[in-house]
Order: sequence, then structure tokens, then C-alpha cells
Amino acid sequence: MSFKSLGLSEDLVKAVSAQGYDTPTPIQSKSIPPVLEGKDVLASAQTGTGKTAGFTLPLLQLLSQTPPLRNRPIRALILTPTRELAAQVHQNVKDYSRFVDLRSTVIFGGVNQKSQVSTLRNGVDVLIATPGRLIDLNNQGLLSLSKVEILVLDEADRMLDMGFLRDIKKIMGLIPKKRQTLLFSATFSKDIRRLSSEFLKDPVSVESTPENTTVEAIEQQVYRVAKEKKTDLLIKLISEGNWEQVLVFSRTKHGANKLAKKLESAKIGAAAIHGNKSQGARTKALAGFKNGSVKVLVATDIASRGLDIPLLPYVVNFELPNVSEDYVHRIGRTGRAGASGLAVSLVSADETVFLRDIEKLIGDKIPMDILEGFEPDPNASTKPFNPQQRGRKPQSNSRSGNSRSSSQKSSGARTGNSRQNSNKPRR
Ligand code: AMP
Repeated sequence: MSFKSLGLSEDLVKAVSAQGYDTPTPIQSKSIPPVLEGKDVLASAQTGTGKTAGFTLPLLQLLSQTPPLRNRPIRALILTPTRELAAQVHQNVKDYSRFVDLRSTVIFGGVNQKSQVSTLRNGVDVLIATPGRLIDLNNQGLLSLSKVEILVLDEADRMLDMGFLRDIKKIMGLIPKKRQTLLFSATFSKDIRRLSSEFLKDPVSVESTPENTTVEAIEQQVYRVAKEKKTDLLIKLISEGNWEQVLVFSRTKHGANKLAKKLESAKIGAAAIHGNKSQGARTKALAGFKNGSVKVLVATDIASRGLDIPLLPYVVNFELPNVSEDYVHRIGRTGRAGASGLAVSLVSADETVFLRDIEKLIGDKIPMDILEGFEPDPNASTKPFNPQQRGRKPQSNSRSGNSRSSSQKSSGARTGNSRQNSNKPRR
């Protein structure tokens, strides 16, 4: 299948092929035709599936079919949960609109609004925005959404997780009712379905990977380890495996900072990226990570969302997420666009229930191992570090009660098989 056969114009096909892509990804094949037909689309797609081009290409085509309007009012609005994702989507829009007469810009918080406002004044056809800054500028009368024809909600599930529902509803009220709406989300939760039924009209549903399954190209590995030995184990894995470009997930901002410092002391170039970092620091860390000067990026879930780092080889869960779905999002950062990847989780006793929840969600057991010198503490409690925060799906008490012994059994069974060597150098 080619991009042309999906109904895209020469100008757009040329722009895609200038990016090096000739074959549409599954989500692109499924979403481009209905968007071009003017239909509302409800798409289930994780980052890494090519979803951005899946909505950007047909959106640009639809807009370019009519000459630019006088004063260039905003005709398409793309909402994203984070600044990083907004910037990346804008980069995609710029790349794909190279040969069509459309202007775009991006606005997000955390930076001075001055230059954003002056670009908006000159007129833009496509606006990419995070909800907060958009509402802020709208309240100041610095932009109008009254001519929006196409609205995209990108990573809508994450927008809801981040508490943007009220903002989204407010923004909906500023946009004409007669419009085309595209909703992209990694999962189709109840909340997403509710949002869709409220704001989409007879949407076409498309899915790239079945809901809540992990991408097959990703090799997963759990190391059972004592909590206090996690940092040393991570250092060993990175150094002995010669790992480059490692995205490490930390549960807290403080934890991310602390871990990045410890890695630096071990002479492993590292940077932390989270909500308390300034936009400048986040951009710098991400640029360093992309150009190789920063080997390890330690991120919290929210900050990592939507980071576009092609072919990311390693993802490490320094702590398991307490919401199982986040595990799927996190490891979706690797094994991108057909390339293989390794997702490693360092699991201490108090994370046992989270691991069980994750394995239940993905419908599979993750291979488990224990490395010599990094054994789990046999006396540590298996009580979750914060049981209240445990995500979703109530489980029976017996599961959390004595689950460590069974997982250790399974660790033992794994020790000695080929998985034991998965910390060997890769690539
Ligand atoms: P996304 O899911 O939109 O974040 O895209 C993930 C990565 O896939 C990005 O680096 C894109 O540039 C890349 N990509 C987009 N479309 C294609 C395609 N048709 N073939 C290969 N890679 C693609």
C-alpha cells in the first residue's frame, strides 16, 4: 500500500517521502481515508505507531483544498497534553506541509507568550496547543477559535489523566459545533468513550494495536531486586550492556532528580525531565538525549508522554507504575516503527502487586530474573508503597498477601535459562 493509494495529494506524498516514509503504518492506512472523507474518527493508537501523520496528513490535505482564508483564521486546532508533544506535533505539521500553502504554530505554557502572540497575529491555519495556554490566550482575547473546522484531541486519555476535562469542555464551547473531530487515544477507557459520545458525531473507530496489549517487538524483562540495590543494578546493566539511549521511568520528580545525579556520579551522562523543570531545561535534556550526549533520560510518566525519539532501544521502569495501563504506555516508547527494543523493570518486594496487575492486563507473564549480588531482600514487605494509589481493577486480598513467594519461585525457574543473559550487550 502507498500513501498515494490512500487518497493523499502529490504535495503531501512528496513531503512524506522526504521524511523517508513510503509505506503507511497500519494506523495511517486506517485513519487517513475516513478523515479525508470528512468523518469524525475515534482512533486507538499509541505513540510510536505513526499516529501523528495519521491525522496530520489528511488534515493538511483537507485544508489545502480551499485557498487560504483572508487574515488566516485558525482552521484546525490540535490539542495535546504536554508541551513536548505539542512541539513534536508541530514539527510533524511543518515537515508535512512543506509543499502546501499552510501556516502553523504551536503554543504552550511555561514560556513567555510574547512570540506566540505575535505569530498568531500574523495568522495561522493550523494551531497546535496545550489546553492551559490556549484558554489563557483566548481569555486575553488574543486568539479566536470561531473558524475552526477540524479539531484533533491527541493523546486524549492522557489529557483526561492530567485533569484537562474541564478545559477540553470549555474549548469545545469556543469551537463551532459544525466541525470534524478526531480523537486519538492509547486506550478506549470508559471516560474516553464518554468524551467521544459527547463530542464526536457518528465516529469511525480505528485501532492500530488491540487495546491493552504490548507491542510484540518489545522484549520484556523483570529483575527482582532489593529496593536499595536498584541504582547499582541499573548502573551495572547500562555499563556492562553498553546501553545507549536509555529512557528510565521514575515514579516521582524527586526520585528522578536523585537518580540522574547518582548516574552522573557513576560517569553515566544523565538528565532528569519532569514537570518542575523549566521548558528550557526540558528541551535541553531532550536534545542531549537525541544527540547522544545524554545517555540516560530519567523521566516521570507525564513528562515522558509523547516524547518522539525514534528507535529508542531501552526503556527501564526504575519503579513499576501503580496504574497498569501506564506500563503499556511506557514500554511503547521502545520497539518503534518495527525496530526491536528491550523494556526492563526493576521490581522490589513492595511492587509485587503492581507486577501482578500488569501481567494480568497484558495477559502474559514477563520473564523474571535475579542477578547475583542484587538479590531481593527476603525479609522485605510485599505491602505496596502506597496501596491507595494502586490503579484500577480491585483484586482479592489473597493476591497481594503472599505473592512474593510465588514470584520468587518463578524467578528461580528463570535463573539458569537463556533469559539470564539478557543484560548482555545489545546493539
Ligand atoms: P508517532 O506515533 O506519530 O509519534 O510516530 C512515531 C515515529 O514513526 C515517528 O518518528 C515518525 O516520524 C515515524 N513514522 C511516521 N510515519 C511513518 C511511516 N509511514 N513509516 C515509518 N515511520 C513512520
